[in-house]
Amino acid sequence: MDSYLALETLLTHADADADDPAVAPTIHQSVNYSAASAEDFDALNSDVNPARYYRRYGNPTQARLERIVAAAEGAEAALATASGMGATTTTLLTFVSQGDHVVAQRSMYGGTLSLLRDIAPRFGIEVTFVDQTDTAAFEQAIKPNTKMIMLETPSNPLLQLTDMAAVTALARTHGILTFADNTIATPVNQKPLDQGVDLVMHSVTKAISGHADVQAGIVVGSKELIDRIWKTHTMAGSIVSPFDAWLAVRGLRTLSMRMERQNRCAQALADYLVTHPAVRSVNYPGLTEHPQHDLAKRQMSGFGGVLSFELSGGETAAEQLISALRLPVRASSLGGTRSTLVRPAAMWSNELTEEQLEEAGVAGGLIRFAVGLEHEDDLINDLRQGLSVTGAVG
Ligand code: PLP
Repeated sequence: MDSYLALETLLTHADADADDPAVAPTIHQSVNYSAASAEDFDALNSDVNPARYYRRYGNPTQARLERIVAAAEGAEAALATASGMGATTTTLLTFVSQGDHVVAQRSMYGGTLSLLRDIAPRFGIEVTFVDQTDTAAFEQAIKPNTKMIMLETPSNPLLQLTDMAAVTALARTHGILTFADNTIATPVNQKPLDQGVDLVMHSVTKAISGHADVQAGIVVGSKELIDRIWKTHTMAGSIVSPFDAWLAVRGLRTLSMRMERQNRCAQALADYLVTHPAVRSVNYPGLTEHPQHDLAKRQMSGFGGVLSFELSGGETAAEQLISALRLPVRASSLGGTRSTLVRPAAMWSNELTEEQLEEAGVAGGLIRFAVGLEHEDDLINDLRQGLSVTGAVG
């Protein structure tokens, strides 16, 4: 689709399908497609990511989702998967083999950390974790066998940033592939490919679909890289269902509107919390107090819908606050219509040991607040009443 079009227009038009005159997308549920002749069958079978052959290889509804996210991120190609972890695992399996080395951040989504800490080493893949706020740490970690640098910025749940332009410049000089998780920012707020990143992934489960009713993932980049991931993908089998792809397409139509609201709301909450006497610290890149606020302004156009904070009363106060709040629900996931809040240490206790959580900087009392589409005044009033109970603990 024409790259001069604005994001809002791409979100609405980039999936246009010349073969489908229906104005709203059709859900293609069929597992396989018939060929009129042996030649047609061979033609279908020889395609990469064919829309109409066999569902594990591709699907027309999935292709619509891929076209929109590729256009939104400014990428040549995309591959949708059954989950964000499906996208990450399949990408890792494609480019990293036994004896290779990966540089990753200490602060990343718990599932990604668990994949890199517990599963990758079983296949002879060595991983070095670095402080993402220190570009020199990436450089020091690079070895002759480093094949990939994995980034997540802002990171979940600490909202720490990686200087993408600096790290990707470094990676290029060493011929290393860069892979960035853009789930928290979304292409509305940041386009990692413009900063030199090679591959970008999303948990489509989050803001991309936006309604807490889809489980899916996606990876975007050059056609050459995505075609290689597709080859692994057809065998790894992390396939998005057509209905989930369809719901994600529907959600994408409003992505920019939802993110603009969530950016505004999260900023208002962060501004409120940072001055509250019961609050020890607030992590949000939109705060002037954020240690990387200048970098945030350089590489982001908005600061996202997720913040995290700690109370002076620690874990006990955090639990009291979560229980006292009436609007946000105590739940995993983020980027939906209802605000969620959770203690990441509790959420990830099945994936990471206490030591690993500590290394990732996830304190027991840390609360992650992912804003939904409620009005910020209502959420602030709710926080005010909740903190009036927990404030006494601090
Ligand atoms: N990346 C981030 C930043 C996430 O928050 C999550 C899930 O919470 C994932 C990746 C994994 O996505 P999924 O749950 O769709 O596999």
